[in-house]
Amino acid sequence: MGRWVEGRVVSQKRWTPELYSLLVEAPVAPFQAGQFTQLALDIAGRRIARSYSYVNAPRENPLEFYYTAVPDGPLTTSLPNLNEGERIWVSPKARGTLTLANVAPASHLWLLSTGTAVGPFLSILKTDEPWQRFERVVLAHSVRTSSEFAYRDTITSLQEQHADKLALVPFVTREDTDFAIRSRIPQAIERGVLEQAAGLDLSPDNAQVMICGNNDMIKDTRAALEARGFRRNRRDEPGYIHLESYY
Ligand code: NAP
Repeated sequence: MGRWVEGRVVSQKRWTPELYSLLVEAPVAPFQAGQFTQLALDIAGRRIARSYSYVNAPRENPLEFYYTAVPDGPLTTSLPNLNEGERIWVSPKARGTLTLANVAPASHLWLLSTGTAVGPFLSILKTDEPWQRFERVVLAHSVRTSSEFAYRDTITSLQEQHADKLALVPFVTREDTDFAIRSRIPQAIERGVLEQAAGLDLSPDNAQVMICGNNDMIKDTRAALEARGFRRNRRDEPGYIHLESYY
């Protein structure tokens, strides 16, 4: 299999002036929920590539990617201008270890995310595996303003399907709302606010935790968890914290 396959844009959804979802048809190899691939465009004679997680579950078509249009971002200034039928290069082979295959058995699965990094968790939650393997699943998602809560329909549908298992804990950090915690996730862990909202103890005795977000959020969240006795999962030393830094 080559480095790139040719994909075609199916559609785009613009959630806010910065947040978009891109739907693409492309002949990629099978992947696991939680993994990422690369998208690329040929711009000024150069192929510019960036990594994005799959938001669709492996069985779903088309492929779906959730991205922020970063000002001056070499790829993301061009991505929002793509129209239906236009070409985009997709790396056919997915990568990444933020998958349930690497998560040990536990009673509770905690998925802690910021911004567009909720995407790989939506892919995971759309599969059967978390619901078969865990008694309770917590999805914490932190955004700056309530307008940045994309995928509400997907999340509402997951809540309806798994009402007895899924606890959704929204965080909005830059404005007051009547539905979300106004705090960053690491501070909410330190103060016990996340546990209170989820209605569960956060303890290495019964939990596995997956973290996806920007590098500082990953670092700070990991530190808050380590202060509670969690340690990172490593191939040679099984643990409770699963994360990925690929950007
Ligand atoms: P953002 O929209 O800038 O921020 C979202 C939330 O993260 C805000 O509530 C913000 O709180 C909070 N935050 C910022 N720094 C934090 C910290 N140190 N600890 C805890 N919370 C913190 O989004 P973002 O998280 O930076 O962007 C998403 C990240 O996910 C990017 O780095 C992206 O590369 C990565 N990612 C993307 C994908 C994808 O497929 N698109 C997949 C995996 C990962 P404040 O308002 O207080 O700043």
